[in-house]
Amino acid sequence: MKIIHKPDDLRCEIEKLKNAKDCSSGLVPTMGALHDGHLSLIKRCVNENNISIVSIFVNPTQFGPNEDYAKYPRTLEADSVLCEKAGVDIVFAPAPEDIYDEYYFKHKETTLICPPYDTVNKLCGKSRPGHFDGVCTIVGKLFNITKCNNAYFGQKDAQQLFIIKKMVNDLYFDLKIISCPIVREKDGLALSSRNTYLTPEARQTALNISQALFKAEELFNKGIKEADTLIDTVLAYIDKPGIEAEYAEIVSLETFEKINLLNEKAIMLVAAKVSSGSATVRLIDNIEL
Ligand code: AMP
Repeated sequence: MKIIHKPDDLRCEIEKLKNAKDCSSGLVPTMGALHDGHLSLIKRCVNENNISIVSIFVNPTQFGPNEDYAKYPRTLEADSVLCEKAGVDIVFAPAPEDIYDEYYFKHKETTLICPPYDTVNKLCGKSRPGHFDGVCTIVGKLFNITKCNNAYFGQKDAQQLFIIKKMVNDLYFDLKIISCPIVREKDGLALSSRNTYLTPEARQTALNISQALFKAEELFNKGIKEADTLIDTVLAYIDKPGIEAEYAEIVSLETFEKINLLNEKAIMLVAAKVSSGSATVRLIDNIEL
């Protein structure tokens, strides 16, 4: 396995590997601090492609000014060991200066891929203005650098997945997006790199999020189809000392637009803020209904 930092070196290495045999390439974009959720994407990528690439990059343009860009966990050495064990061919771990030019660092602006307003001005995008512009921009760059045939994304970040599929469709990126199911801890907590911020008490409180979603699923399976009833149940369940729901919403899986009655495939999404010592940790989760 090779660890590569420069986009041009990555292009050369991929060309070299592709010339050796006619083959498919897969990409797993990540911000590192890899856990079993990431590894499920990585293993699938390794199984389904001749060349597998994992990118590890904490992308500055997708973080707001008061978010956790500086303190986001960076564990390249441990991540590389996990990738090597999983059979990855290339870890692409650029520095911000490898991905953004001097103009960006001087003016704090760059060419962006901006998804339509209505797809971003809700759910996570509402409290994170500019977040999905940053995500689409880095993912678009990675697609152009790697020219991968397949790219793997987790359903954990459901709004991101929807927006990236739309970007690929709108901009004619020539690749397939493969969505992978949410990986959870045994007790239900969705794996996230941000779980490392949680104290043991906060981790216990954070369990309310997945449990609230499972409760909604239970009610849905019993025949409750009104979105408001399911949303109220989830909000009431989450609302405990040390945790506050930012949103709970139900949207159509196909259009990502709000629905009132669950007569089509839907997804319920939650974001909540958990107090953890002196910090607040924002976590997201979702479930298909
Ligand atoms: P991140 O490093 O948080 O940007 O995540 C990189 C990719 O891993 C994204 O496509 C995420 O949706 C996916 N991912 C993160 N956590 C999980 C999880 N618990 N289960 C499945 N996929 C995940």
